Amino acid sequence: MNILHIIQNFVKKSKSLDISKDMIPEKSPHHFSINPSRRRFFQQVGVFLTASLMPQWLLYAKGQGGRIIDVFGYPVGESYQYVRPGRSSVGKLVNFRGAKGGLKLRKAAFQAYLSLKRQAAKQGISLVPISGYRSLATQKSLYRQYGASRAEKPGYSEHNIGTTIDFAQVQFPSKAFLWLLKEGIKAGWVPTYYYRRTRRFMREPWHWRYVGKTAAKRFYLAWRPQIERDKRYLEGLQKKGTGK
Ligand SMILES: [Zn+2]
Repeated sequence: MNILHIIQNFVKKSKSLDISKDMIPEKSPHHFSINPSRRRFFQQVGVFLTASLMPQWLLYAKGQGGRIIDVFGYPVGESYQYVRPGRSSVGKLVNFRGAKGGLKLRKAAFQAYLSLKRQAAKQGISLVPISGYRSLATQKSLYRQYGASRAEKPGYSEHNIGTTIDFAQVQFPSKAFLWLLKEGIKAGWVPTYYYRRTRRFMREPWHWRYVGKTAAKRFYLAWRPQIERDKRYLEGLQKKGTGK
């Protein structure tokens, strides 16, 4: 929803509020009150105004921040049930070739992946996907095979929404990971299981999710000190010639 839309909605809703009616006491003189749905509406307007007027650095400083929502409407960086059994609408999926055979991604994520791959190739970095979209059934068997520390529950995996890729040979340290930190984030991709608040999972430098540029910028702001520290470290290795 764009801002114009929200403002139009606000104007429409405020016109429909008949305040004069509320002010006429019917039974008790204390009748004047806002009904719950109107109160909810004003709360939402308040949240919207706070979020849009407050500088981003204040909202996301020290990781306190509000929720980060990706370009598809899913939250980023928190445990979330993206897909429920029987209601797995993840949009149109595109088939393409990965390192070990056919993979699928949501169309917008696939297009973003193609442009990322092209951009990386220009710098001599080859991005080779080994995993993309996973069905609930695939995630179920991975969960059974790897357990809760290495796999998400079915429906909770970012692979279930078709916007996430595991890249072969993107490790820590590696030249590719450094490049992705510098350019991938700018292009709207984030390593959601490398920078994560919970320590329940092992860190995954190869796992990159397409969230769109705005959400990626917010993700960056939330993790800036850690990301900048890792970039400095990896750049140091590159200079010494020890980075892969
Ligand atoms: Zn992954």
